[in-house]
Order: sequence, then structure tokens, then C-alpha cells
Amino acid sequence: MATVNLIDELQRPVPFSGQDVPDDDLLRACVHCGMCLPTCPTYRETGDEASSPRGRLWLMGAVAEGRLSLLDEDFGEQMYQCLNCRACEAVCPSGVQYGPLVEASRAQLEQHRSRPWWQNVLRSSVMSWPFNNVRLMRGGAVGLRLYQQIGLGSFLRKTGILRLLRLENLERMVPPIAESPISPGHDTWTPDHRLADAHLFNGCVMSSVFPDVNRATGRVLAHNGYATDVPIGQGCCGAIYSHTGMLDDARRLARANIDAFEHAGSGPVVCNAAGCGSALKEYGHLLKDDPIYADRARTFAERVVDVNELLDQQPLVPPTKTVDLTVTLQEPCHLAHAQRISAQPRSLLRQIPGLNLVEMHESSLCCGSAGIYNITRPQMADVLGDRKARNAMATGAGTVITSNPGCHMQLRTSLLRNGSEQEVEHIVTILDEAYGGKKAERWAIDAR
Ligand code: SF4
Ligand code: SF4
Repeated sequence: MATVNLIDELQRPVPFSGQDVPDDDLLRACVHCGMCLPTCPTYRETGDEASSPRGRLWLMGAVAEGRLSLLDEDFGEQMYQCLNCRACEAVCPSGVQYGPLVEASRAQLEQHRSRPWWQNVLRSSVMSWPFNNVRLMRGGAVGLRLYQQIGLGSFLRKTGILRLLRLENLERMVPPIAESPISPGHDTWTPDHRLADAHLFNGCVMSSVFPDVNRATGRVLAHNGYATDVPIGQGCCGAIYSHTGMLDDARRLARANIDAFEHAGSGPVVCNAAGCGSALKEYGHLLKDDPIYADRARTFAERVVDVNELLDQQPLVPPTKTVDLTVTLQEPCHLAHAQRISAQPRSLLRQIPGLNLVEMHESSLCCGSAGIYNITRPQMADVLGDRKARNAMATGAGTVITSNPGCHMQLRTSLLRNGSEQEVEHIVTILDEAYGGKKAERWAIDAR
């Protein structure tokens, strides 16, 4: 009898338990109408119901109700095959909050599923060091910039060494780093006619790989009356951890950012990276059970504004220079779906003299970047990247505009792979040019 009980016990599905259990009420909000299916990139590629938002919500519900084990292989596969692009959330008539549900499900997998030792080492080293220590990332960017400037990349590529080390794809993702990294507490931008103060969220990748975009953001804000600084004490937004279910790490970074921006004073927290902005706006949810930070997190989140959103809130100071470009817009998922900012970048681009905006088919379909998805799941990421590249190339535009570092790098790699010579630029780089700002010097890198 005791043996039968033991077998029953071992066969019983492992339930959600402990911290960060997916919210039952949120799960029950799905009425299985299927309206989200056509928007889902993984469903569109696979045609498989399990790879759709409805299918994944069904799987989460099955674990919540004890019909499926948390350790079931298909459950884990689907939770991580999802790009967390939130396209499903934006069209759902029942208001299902898919993002928090998939992040909680991943947190459950993190807490209860064992991984091979080498994956644990990889996650606690490669994944944790740079995001926990942005100074380290900025130091790495200085080295990378030197590597690009002296042409070491092309030597390693031509001799096949990068392929041998399996670093070819990773190396190709990094665009030319145009300027030295931007550290908090140094740069400020003062307008001629001050309307208000603003505080720039510096980011980890943005401050290291795209410092020219952060400086262009400061200049564009100053043109529009914002006295802008880069508050000291801020770090990574923690999105990379939220998306992988490492929610305690995300909370630690969130608390540090809240402290930093409270100390900086009042005024909007301006973000120019869609993924970071979306994560910062969700600090209220992330820290909802924290007795010290819950209220402060909500107040902080209300201060966060995307640069497109802020500039479009009032009449844009008219740009004075002609930018003779035909461009197309690639909408980052965390801008279009998570923050529902879609009209504002178009409105800003249309105010630039000489610029011609051509719409891209499927402009808000995920490009496959999705945090570190293009590193952990390169197959699906490449399929989506190729699809995006084909759509961008079909517009005939010379430049693809976006506003998220992950999308920027994924677009660049996908366009190169598809033989395109289109450039990729952040929207503020183009706005900055239209105000006569310094376009950062980029040297050509033959990454093909
Ligand atoms: S998530 Fe929303 S759109 Fe999708 S099936 Fe459920 S209720 Fe319908
Ligand atoms: S978040 Fe994106 S990939 Fe995941 S289920 Fe929703 S639409 Fe599909």
C-alpha cells in the first residue's frame, strides 16, 4: 500500500507553488476566442495551436488546475518558444495580461526545474555580470570599439577564426560603436529656453553600444526645452531578467533605479529604448509585494515616458534642416504592443523636412530579437529576422528606423544576411540631424 501511495505521489503533476505564481484571475480572463492567433509570430510560423497565445494560456491553466505538470517538457518548451512580444495582449478583447503571466510561468520554471550545471554557470556568469555591472559592459564596449577601429574583426572573419570559435553571428550583431560610452553623472544638455527638467535613462546596452543615440536624445530634448541630465546611481532596467523569469534579480535592479531617480528630483524619466521603457513602466507590478518599494515603484513608473511619447505630447519645435531620406519604420514590440506607442514616431518623422516615410508590411511583427531570444533560439529568430528583412527591403527605403537596441542589432544582422545595404537608425538620430546635430562618425565595417 505504501509503495502504491509513493508511486501516486511521484506521478502527481508538479503544481505552481512558492513565489511568483501566475495569477488565477488573469488566467481566467481568457475566453479562448482566438482573436490573438493571427498576431502571434510563432503561431504564424508553426501553425501549431500549442505555439499560439491561446495554446500557451491553456497550458498555464492546465498547470494551475493540476492537470499538467510544471515540469512537463512541452510546457517548458512553449513558455520559452514565446517571444514575449505582447502582440497577443494588444489585440485581446478580454484584456488578458499575457506578459505578466508568461513571466511568472518562467519564474516558476526557474525555481522548480533543474538545469545542467554548465547552464547554471553560464547564467550566473555571462548573463549576470554585464547586466549587474553596467560599468563592466561599458568597459567591454571601449574594447569592442578599439577592436572595430583597428579592423581586427575583419581579420578574424577572413581567417575563419570567428567561425571556429562560433562567435561569427554574435560579432556580426554589434554595430559600429560610434562614440565613447556615456556614464551617469557627466553629460547634461541645456536648452536655450527651458520648459522643464528631464532625466535620461541611460540603459546598459544603450550607454555602451549606442552612446551616440543617448547623446542625440539629450540634444533633441534640449531643442524642445528640456534641461536633461543622466542621474547617477542608475543601472540596467532588469528587463533581461524579467523576461527569463529571474524576477528577484530584476527587482534588485528596479530598486536601485528607483533610488537613483528619486534622488535626481522630479521630472520625467525619459527612455529611448522600447524594451527598457516597457520594463520601467512595469516596476509597479514587479514590486507590488515589496513593503518598502511598492508605492515608490508605482510613482516611479508614472514618471517614465518614451522619447517618442514625450516629444509628441506637445508641438515639436520645427526641425530646420532637410533630411533627404526615404525611410521605413520597424516598430519594436515593446513600443507598439507593450506601451501602445505607434502613431507618435510616425507623427515625428512626418515633421522632418525632406524625409519620405514609406510604410512597411507587418511593421509591428516581432523581428526575432526579443531580449536574448536571438542568442538562445537562433533558428526561430532567423526565420523572423529574414521575414522582417524581406518586408523592409520591399519598401525600397534606404534607411530602416527603429527605437530599441535589440531590434537595431537584429535588423542589421538580418538585412546583411539578406544582402541588403539598408542602414538602420534610431529615430532620435534622424531628429538630431534635422536639428543640425552632430551625426556620429561611423566607419564602414564589412561584416558580410
Ligand atoms: S488571449 Fe484574448 S484574444 Fe487570445 S484567445 Fe484568450 S481571450 Fe481571445
Ligand atoms: S507574446 Fe508574442 S510570441 Fe508569445 S504568445 Fe503572445 S504573440 Fe505569441
